[in-house]
Amino acid sequence: MTDALATQRWVPAESSRAPLPSSTDVLVVGGGIAGAAMAYHLAKAGVEVTLVERGELNREASGTNAGSFHLQLAIHQLSGQGAAADRERLLAEARLSLKAFAVWQELGAELDAPLDVHLTGGWMVAETPEQLRTLRDKYELEQLAGIETEVVTGDELRQRAPFLSDTVIGATYCPLEGHANPLIVAPLYALRASQHGAVIRTHTEVLGIDVTAATGARRFTVHTDAGSIDAHRVVDCAGAWAGELAAMVGLRLPVRSEGLHVNVTEPRPRLLTPMVQHIGRRLTLKQTEQNTFIIGGGWPSPAAPRPERYPTSWHSAAGSTAVAVSVVPALADVRVVRTWSGVIVFTDDFSPVVGESVRVPGFHACVSSTGFTFSPLLAHRLAEHMVAPSASRRFPERYALDRATPGTTS
Ligand SMILES: Cc1cc2nc3c(=O)[nH]c(=O)nc-3n(C[C@H](O)[C@H](O)[C@H](O)COP(=O)(O)OP(=O)(O)OC[C@H]3O[C@@H](n4cnc5c(N)ncnc54)[C@H](O)[C@@H]3O)c2cc1C
Repeated sequence: MTDALATQRWVPAESSRAPLPSSTDVLVVGGGIAGAAMAYHLAKAGVEVTLVERGELNREASGTNAGSFHLQLAIHQLSGQGAAADRERLLAEARLSLKAFAVWQELGAELDAPLDVHLTGGWMVAETPEQLRTLRDKYELEQLAGIETEVVTGDELRQRAPFLSDTVIGATYCPLEGHANPLIVAPLYALRASQHGAVIRTHTEVLGIDVTAATGARRFTVHTDAGSIDAHRVVDCAGAWAGELAAMVGLRLPVRSEGLHVNVTEPRPRLLTPMVQHIGRRLTLKQTEQNTFIIGGGWPSPAAPRPERYPTSWHSAAGSTAVAVSVVPALADVRVVRTWSGVIVFTDDFSPVVGESVRVPGFHACVSSTGFTFSPLLAHRLAEHMVAPSASRRFPERYALDRATPGTTS
């Protein structure tokens, strides 16, 4: 690799704005972390792949998220409607998160550049006896799944996490959690994909897809605002808009989108190395390498019609920082310097949507709610499956693309 390539971090505009080819084997739609990782793994395996993105790369969820690796169980995702099934799903997802974490540990070496990854450990805190009970239940499940956590209370908690408020009565600690810089990884995946021969086209919006019934080499004709392209296979990596894309081929994905809020503060001397989240209130908090604090946790931002971006809201900026200050009081005089919003995809049943549709063969998807943590793993697995399909590489039924499409039995 030349020095220029080693330091280059972005697919050059002159190539990403070139005309769209007329055909490709695989068309990946979406230039976030999922689409860029798909393009990378497919191109590296020698597959002809074109990625189209309607805006710039990494401008939606993948570039606006809080950058946390979530390993502690999202026990609030127990719906209570099918406790045993929920439990099984949570355990399976917990085991998967260990694999996702392992991928992140190697990703800098794989992509041959630093990704600003920090494995700092993380606290999940409780302020009420009920929240502490939930933490203990979560801890039991994590032991079953093989995730290393511990419940810490009393003097030991004060000693190990002196930055926490006295209102925190207990917390679980997981040494494996951490964070990375979301501005780096997806553009780097895209750059490496293009170096392996992938065609990357930005400012190219998919407007419609014709599915041809003929059993020729080309199955889809994809119409974009930059021309049409025939593709043998399509991968839906459109994040919060994945449902709209799938609807173009008659599929209904079990997804919905929501706007979320994140804040960043001015830098301060190091106060906090591990990440902090709350079991019962909306909070994720971390101090970055630049010593700023990133405050998130799922505070909402109002929806806006495209092409407008979702606006920020005073209620969410004030609400999320108030929770942060109540849990880490030393933040009280730290100034917030910027707030922003991003659009996240949620699946109704909390499982990702990954694999190939049974109803529309050739149409694939790679969609996940905690996609910063999971997309590198899921995209790699889907790419492997597309390169060499095998029963052992099949995804679990609960990930199926067709599970919400009326008339589908799985
Ligand atoms: C505020 C916020 C905080 C988050 N925090 C975390 C976190 O801390 N940890 C974590 O693991 N996850 C987090 N997430 C979730 C994570 O960011 C997403 O799950 C992940 O980035 C999804 O990646 P993606 O590539 O699937 O989607 P995106 O990054 O949204 O990319 C989809 C792309 O598809 C393009 N597109 C859509 N439709 C079309 C079309 N018709 N034609 C062409 N292009 C199209 C869009 O322009 C977009 O660029 C957060 C999300 C948000 C919004």
